[in-house]
Amino acid sequence: MSDVIRSQELFQRALAVSPGGVNSPVRAFRAVGGAPRFMRSGSGAWLTDVDGNDYVDLVGSWGPMLLGHAHPEVLAAVADAVSRGTSFGTPSEPEVALAEEIVARTPVESVRLVSSGTEATMSAIRLARGATGRDTVVKFAGCYHGHVDSLLAEAGSGVVTLGIPGTPGVPAHVAADTVVLPYNDRDAVTAAFAELGDRIACVITEAAPGNMGVVPPEPGFNAFLAATCRQNGALLISDEVMTGFRASRHGQWGLDGAVEGWAPDLMTFGKVMGGGFPAAAFGGRAELMNLLAPAGPVYQAGTLAGNPVATTAGLTTLRLATPAVYEHLLDVSNRLQAAVGEALTTAGVRHAVQRTGTMFSVFWGTDEVRDFAGAQAQEAWRYPPFFHAMLDAGVYLPPSAFEAWFVSAAHDEEALSRIIEALPGAARAAAAA
Ligand code: PMP
Repeated sequence: MSDVIRSQELFQRALAVSPGGVNSPVRAFRAVGGAPRFMRSGSGAWLTDVDGNDYVDLVGSWGPMLLGHAHPEVLAAVADAVSRGTSFGTPSEPEVALAEEIVARTPVESVRLVSSGTEATMSAIRLARGATGRDTVVKFAGCYHGHVDSLLAEAGSGVVTLGIPGTPGVPAHVAADTVVLPYNDRDAVTAAFAELGDRIACVITEAAPGNMGVVPPEPGFNAFLAATCRQNGALLISDEVMTGFRASRHGQWGLDGAVEGWAPDLMTFGKVMGGGFPAAAFGGRAELMNLLAPAGPVYQAGTLAGNPVATTAGLTTLRLATPAVYEHLLDVSNRLQAAVGEALTTAGVRHAVQRTGTMFSVFWGTDEVRDFAGAQAQEAWRYPPFFHAMLDAGVYLPPSAFEAWFVSAAHDEEALSRIIEALPGAARAAAAA
């Protein structure tokens, strides 16, 4: 075990002044045990903690760091932006350029910038309700859309990692307006519309769920959702906070909607488009988006929305994320999936490696997962020993079996070798669990 004295000291200090010692639950090592590592710096594919240990990073700040940490061109653009002031509370050029970049790479015509994915989904739902005059929201079990009151029911990410069934603090009448359905289940969607059709404002779905582990939509599922919503006067909100500019250059939509010729009514983005800063967005057809204030009556606002530093980081990241970058991400991701699969097979651990575009994750003790029930049925207890063996060997994985693994443009042969060498031992630890 590497030296983690300073991380442990910081964690004790953090516990004294903040709940659970972290500012977002998924950062805690609750599911895997031990004290979280406090990182001091990141460079390319690598993180260095406060004790000086280095790790190949497969979390990438939970998705944003598509280019790797401290990319020189992103840093230079940010330094330049900072030197001109950090927030004006007026419109500024980078936010227009970022919106143009998002419009160019997705089917949305108009974009509102916000500061977090949670704000994006919350605002998209308000807009859908305002546009339809209806209240009910349909979501899928295992999908996570941020900590919006109405979207926490049977959510993925930290909610499932910590085994929180229904969150205290969400009013019953809010939860009552949310209908939760099993993912990939067309019959359940059809039945919900048959029963509640004229009350459903929107269906919100992760374009490809990555918050219960990666569970790709079955072929045609998203198109089916779009068509069903259209037939019933409801809107489809495709949440691409995680998959946007990540699963492919055009997100998950680039892998299905763009190929099949359909588009969601509203989309949400975050993570990659903020380049490691707090920036997110929601967008859709201009006619819908123009219902937002000041163009229309649906109110939504933000003091730091479109912040010039954050939007500069996001814009620079997206401009550097060329087709060649996605080819590299796909190659690294494919090689890692193969290496994980081989190590687990050799160690005799039943598993499923599931993917969408460049994103993937591993499920334990199962052959395939197509919904939340399947994800929850996995042998999640095999993950902590695997995680800690990888951590001890200098590989930083998400501290939960229910999360996607993220690679970056900076994952090179050296980074890959570190991971591939660590896998057999970690696989044996999982087998022995
Ligand atoms: N939607 C999805 C699909 C996400 O993965 C996340 C964050 N993991 C969110 C929304 C919420 O984003 P944020 O954490 O920036 O509020």
